[in-house]
Amino acid sequence: MTCCRPNTVRFVLGFSTASLFPETVAHQCQNFFYYCFLWISPGTSLDFDTHPTRAYGARSAAFAWANASNSATGVVLIEKFTNDHISSTEFRKGAPSTRPWGLFMPECPFCRVSHQVKAQHANNQRLNLDCDCGARASSVRQPARVEQVMANHYVYPFPCDLEDGITWKLGMQTLTGRWTSTPRSLRGSAPHKTDRT
Ligand SMILES: [Zn+2]
Repeated sequence: MTCCRPNTVRFVLGFSTASLFPETVAHQCQNFFYYCFLWISPGTSLDFDTHPTRAYGARSAAFAWANASNSATGVVLIEKFTNDHISSTEFRKGAPSTRPWGLFMPECPFCRVSHQVKAQHANNQRLNLDCDCGARASSVRQPARVEQVMANHYVYPFPCDLEDGITWKLGMQTLTGRWTSTPRSLRGSAPHKTDRT
């Protein structure tokens, strides 16, 4: 959905999934409009362009309320502040074992796939990542550009391609992986940093 009235709100709200039954988000979309245009979320400015914007606050309020929708899809908000300033973020429910901090499970840089990677809590909100090949990334911290906005709900850049490296070890070898939702075919040819210890 879009809203483009001059000097008021300029945003696009969408869903980061290949397929979605509209019924599963209809109620939340209704709430989004309510929070954005009829009711002001606490801590949100009356000014449409001040961060956190009304659309930003409305997304959190509407889509965290119905947790089920966020396990199926992320909610993307693209906001235009000026011609040079466009913000694009995704909001999603996180689950340590499947969606750590709301993100895609990272690839193991040794296997170059993510489906073999399992995550579990380490200490202090950190995670240990283990791949079936034997590689492990220990005590991985929440990436810097991921913001927790509500219990178990996170906002991060969309598309997600974070600078934070994940240090993986397999035997004596160390490789650095990344948090990204960009398909490998679109990522260019930059190889993973390799560092032998
Ligand atoms: Zn692996």
